Amino acid sequence: MKIFCVGQNYAEHVKEFGGQIPSQPVIFSKPETAVLRNGEPFYYPDFSKEIDYETELVIKINKEGKYIDPKFAPKYYDEIALGIDFTARDLQRELKAKGQPWDIAKGFNGSAPLSNFVPLSKFADVQNLNFHLHINGVQKQKGNTSDMIFKVNELIAYISKFFLLKKGDLIFTGTPVGVGPVHIGDKLEAFLENEKMLEFEIK
Ligand code: MG
Repeated sequence: MKIFCVGQNYAEHVKEFGGQIPSQPVIFSKPETAVLRNGEPFYYPDFSKEIDYETELVIKINKEGKYIDPKFAPKYYDEIALGIDFTARDLQRELKAKGQPWDIAKGFNGSAPLSNFVPLSKFADVQNLNFHLHINGVQKQKGNTSDMIFKVNELIAYISKFFLLKKGDLIFTGTPVGVGPVHIGDKLEAFLENEKMLEFEIK
């Protein structure tokens, strides 16, 4: 299973880091060992003092394809989930400053908490979904997928030019504005249209 992630895919989030709106999707990946199943605790790693949450809609690919045309992309997914793209921000900053790849800041063990998948057919439009994150019962981040710069179908088309997509591959579609740090003892809960999808603690 491959895990693709999209950076800078919500304009307000790009602004919070002082970046430029990208002209092409920004793609990186995480190893499958990054997945943390719903309910499993996240153990705060000793190599960072600044682990940020990024709440994201996750798409699961349901069949093999490459060079997928955006208009046929809807045939390649029928389940969605919520995930967190945990980021060791301090480490990422150091690596970016040196022009080095930031895999270790994004792909470490447990850096991809993932809810169970639900059928997309439950929802009217993948590009009009509300989602939000609570930490210790307080809402910390919320977004709507209508604000994506590159929509799900464009992301699938773009990624599939470079990588053969296979059944079970995941795409973390980017985070909206409002990212921030987690701390030991925090309880995170992520909601998709007011349905709790993901719940776990930082230990
Ligand atoms: Mg992200």
